[in-house]
Amino acid sequence: MSQTVPLDSSRRRLLLQGSAALIAVPSLLRHALAADVQRFALGIASGQPRADGIVLWTRVTGADLPERTTVRWEIARDEAFQQIAARGEETAEAAWAHSVHAEPAGLEPGRWYWYRFEALGQRSAVGRTRTAPRPDDAATLNFAITSCQRFDVGHYAAWRHIVAEDLDLVMFLGDYIYESPNAKDAVRQVEGGRIDTLAGYRTRYATHKGDTALQAAHAAVPWLLVWDDHEVENDYAGLQGQRLQPDFRRQRADAYQAYWEHMPFPKSARPRGADMRITGRLDWGRLARIHLLDDRQYRDPQVCPQPGRGGSNTVTLKDCPALLDPKRTLLGAEQERWLAEGWDGSRPWNLVAQQTLMARYNWSDPADPSTGGGTHWTDGWDGYAPARNRLLGVVAERKLAGVVVLGGDVHSHYVADLKADFDVANAPVIATEFCGTSISSLGLPQARLDAARGFNPHVHYGRSDQRGYMRFTLGAKQLQAILRVVDQPRDPMSGISTAARFMVEAGKAGAVAA
Ligand code: FE
Ligand code: CA
Repeated sequence: MSQTVPLDSSRRRLLLQGSAALIAVPSLLRHALAADVQRFALGIASGQPRADGIVLWTRVTGADLPERTTVRWEIARDEAFQQIAARGEETAEAAWAHSVHAEPAGLEPGRWYWYRFEALGQRSAVGRTRTAPRPDDAATLNFAITSCQRFDVGHYAAWRHIVAEDLDLVMFLGDYIYESPNAKDAVRQVEGGRIDTLAGYRTRYATHKGDTALQAAHAAVPWLLVWDDHEVENDYAGLQGQRLQPDFRRQRADAYQAYWEHMPFPKSARPRGADMRITGRLDWGRLARIHLLDDRQYRDPQVCPQPGRGGSNTVTLKDCPALLDPKRTLLGAEQERWLAEGWDGSRPWNLVAQQTLMARYNWSDPADPSTGGGTHWTDGWDGYAPARNRLLGVVAERKLAGVVVLGGDVHSHYVADLKADFDVANAPVIATEFCGTSISSLGLPQARLDAARGFNPHVHYGRSDQRGYMRFTLGAKQLQAILRVVDQPRDPMSGISTAARFMVEAGKAGAVAA
């Protein structure tokens, strides 16, 4: 149930006069419910900004909650809530973990707002969010890309620093949780070992969202989110689990439900069984079109897995010629078409927010005849090279000069040129890629990346040994990228520094050091 009320000023005054009564009603319930239980222990969030609306999220907490409880929300033009822009109420239901997905409409484009919730006599913290600029606005965009925040192996100092970055948007590109049990040298604990049930996923999200630095990052700025594999299970592909378990459809349904319950997605995205649409698009003024992709739900299984398993492998082209099968897809035929038809030639930039490294990363010398063209990891775009060529082929054919692919997943900062043919040194650069390192998840040994750097001259930067995020300033003329890395990933109060800077000029694909 939802109720959105854009308010004119007379009606606003009326409701403000009545606000004491609004608070008084839930206080009656305190007799039945413990007054000292925190009702917003997992924080608040906003996401999916539009020019006229936003999604506000929270989840009411406490072991003593009724089946259904009413949650009020309000969004204001000022931090003191003197100028209310809209307010409404939602029913939080046990069947959906008492999550709240409020969707205020009728907001003004391109401005900041403040929001809060109220339930069972308690008020949430105040969150800050903003709407997208109107479509004809000559806007700029400050944003960060983030991914991979495994809880047990590191702390979230990166999120504390993101709050200070003065951003319009945070993009989270997958692996919000990990389904795995605690690592041997865990810095903090998750419960429940390896999770694969609705209860397990809910507890895992609650553990992550208990972190105050993560809560602060959600409360500071709206987020755009896509998932990767670990929100369900490592290396899953479509309806195939890594362990080839027969009940994977049930597991995926449970995982998608818990994901929706904990993220600022609209009610229309609520999963039906094992299906949930996260694919979407957002225009940021005249500046950019942002495409959000799902490379997990619709993909073909990885080829040449290890015997008796699903999931990824690292194989030579000689041993796995199926890598070049043009019938295979990473996005699914429908999403591929949706993207091909949705590129925007009228704005200087098309940003593609997706999960993983798109650039080819050959792990051995492609000229070595014993490999038949090199060694490839089958879970990323290298496992679906013909699908990558199709996508980049459309970009080349449409002469879209400002395509920037953003990714995560591989726990490394990569900056790369995307080319029609990665084996030809002077093949044209079609698009630019920034793949950001993990917030906390551990990366490959740096020596492994370095040993293969010479086989991948289109990759300008590759560091697997640092945690952090990438911060961008996008303007009509250029994109500036700052690669940020934390000093001590196991210290929640760690400092941060800039590891490198890159720049992309509008109309000229490819990154240059800045
Ligand atoms: Fe990850
Ligand atoms: Ca991943």
